[in-house]
Amino acid sequence: MTKARFSEFGKAQKWIRRGASLQHFRWKYFPDRSIPSSLQALNRVVFQYLAEPLCHPARSAYVNLFAPCEILHAFDLYPMFVESLATFLNGFSCEDLAVDQSESSGLSETLCSFHKTFIGGAERGALPKPLFAMASSVLCDANTKTFLHVAKRLGIPALLIDVPYTPSPEAVRYVSDQLQDVVKQVEDISGKPFRIDRLREVLALENETKRLMAECLEALALKAFPNHLTLEMGRLMLTHTGIGRPESSQCFQALVRDIRNAPPRSGKAIFWIQVIPFFDPTLRARFNYASDYQLLGMDINFDDLEPLPLDDPLFSLAKKIVNHVFNGPFNRRIDWILGLMDRLKPDGVVYFCQWGCKQSSGGAAMMADALKTKGIPCLVLDGDAADRRNMPQGQTKTRVEAFLEMLP
Ligand code: SF4
Repeated sequence: MTKARFSEFGKAQKWIRRGASLQHFRWKYFPDRSIPSSLQALNRVVFQYLAEPLCHPARSAYVNLFAPCEILHAFDLYPMFVESLATFLNGFSCEDLAVDQSESSGLSETLCSFHKTFIGGAERGALPKPLFAMASSVLCDANTKTFLHVAKRLGIPALLIDVPYTPSPEAVRYVSDQLQDVVKQVEDISGKPFRIDRLREVLALENETKRLMAECLEALALKAFPNHLTLEMGRLMLTHTGIGRPESSQCFQALVRDIRNAPPRSGKAIFWIQVIPFFDPTLRARFNYASDYQLLGMDINFDDLEPLPLDDPLFSLAKKIVNHVFNGPFNRRIDWILGLMDRLKPDGVVYFCQWGCKQSSGGAAMMADALKTKGIPCLVLDGDAADRRNMPQGQTKTRVEAFLEMLP
């Protein structure tokens, strides 16, 4: 049975493409009208962003969460966001095959399952081969190695942006030079000319989206608005790889309207740090469109609300990447989270330690201590948001339910 599944896995690309396209069609024409219209729109855009690169790999690039995708938008290329593809393979219950493929080709069992799912999926042909791969080393320096490995295996160019760990003006200049080079390489690879004014338009839309994201945040501090674990993960495509696109901005406009019109906050509000294992039954039962426990959001979806100056767009992008709150010492992230907690006022926080993710496990105790000094209870939860075999259901249920019940 496993052997048969494994040989079928190589054909999964067709099913993944069809799955994403059908879901997009469904949310476009037959949305679930029992949820607010902004969440219907969010579902539609998430599947649009997922389906586009799968349907048009020759106009796409593999990217990670912190790649400067604004450059791709300026070239009208689609980002193929690999963490979301790993999540999508999980949705098809075949992530284990991708992980096993990676481990059987010599990768360590302790490497993050997002990387292993991406590598295994690409190597087995379950993911399409795009024009090139582009990644930055912010937060996760394993990314550059993973992207280089996959690019070599598939014979595509790898555009890797090395981001110094310590933010400084020199670091911004160093990254800005790399971005100039990336632009030249994308011109060569795609055969399209770079237009700086087009990039300015993308950044202007990004600024507008960030303004709306900040309004969402302020409204969420007061209102009871439903959320869904899968949607919160999917939102990463709007707040990161798809930022600067009009659909992202329109979606946040609808969210601001719906959240402002929602009733006052009731029940307990939970904030989530790090990625979400959206498939876990206890978490789904507790948080998906729930009113007694409202999932306020995930930190990565609020990580950058700063507008970008438009005079020198590549320099602005370099500054954004280098000064990102996830770059540098973990204390930067703690200070930022504490400020965010002052604005959102959650009743509790769940800090998720992703299997194989050194930065999430390394900072867990520091973050939990900092939140406790502010009087915010924090549950540190171990598991795996990509490979369900590392997500112990019984233990998660016991720990999450005990935590929610003890909230004041
Ligand atoms: S979960 Fe951690 S190790 Fe995995 S891709 Fe994200 S930052 Fe990297």
